[in-house]
Amino acid sequence: MILNAALYFYTVSYGTSLADSQNITLVHEEMHIVTNLDDIGLANLLQIGVGAPPGMSQAQIAAADSVSIASWLAAGCPQPGGNH
Ligand SMILES: [Zn+2]
Repeated sequence: MILNAALYFYTVSYGTSLADSQNITLVHEEMHIVTNLDDIGLANLLQIGVGAPPGMSQAQIAAADSVSIASWLAAGCPQPGGNH
């Protein structure tokens, strides 16, 4: 697992605190390791992916799905369909 120290230790990317952001990043990366899925595969598994909108490149879809995963973690991992 590779983490960018400048982002990991000093920047709040997701959540409301640096610790939240670090936890979200760690769990996100661990989910990749455990499932052996990339961002698109993982987002689809969680039913939170953006799908394949016309005009979006694979890289753009992957980036959007990565954000979806982090946002889902920041929101406390709500079940698909909006039911907790
Ligand atoms: Zn990811």
